Amino acid sequence: MDQNEGMRRAAWKMSGGRCQLCGKIPASQREITFSRNVGMLFQRREYSVRGHMCSRCMHRTFLQYFVLNLCFGWWGAISFWVTTVFFFQNFWNYVMGLFELWKEGHG
Ligand SMILES: [Zn+2]
Repeated sequence: MDQNEGMRRAAWKMSGGRCQLCGKIPASQREITFSRNVGMLFQRREYSVRGHMCSRCMHRTFLQYFVLNLCFGWWGAISFWVTTVFFFQNFWNYVMGLFELWKEGHG
């Protein structure tokens, strides 16, 4: 956790600790990041979403990014590797996010 994340977390807690996607409680104390790549053969673009999420938004966003990576991610030499890394990163963040909720007693 870097210093900025600590400050963002404090601000988030002060504002009620809600899910930053849908506004529900409880949300994970841990910031979750999901990333996706769009490969266009010789170009590519990255998108990501970051925030404290409830379990429903975690499931939904993970699945959405998984499908979008699967459909649009691979198209290009660099994109192929970037998308592979994103798959593992997203999965890891997903598991850690759910684990965090479970640890906090909301699993
Ligand atoms: Zn939510």
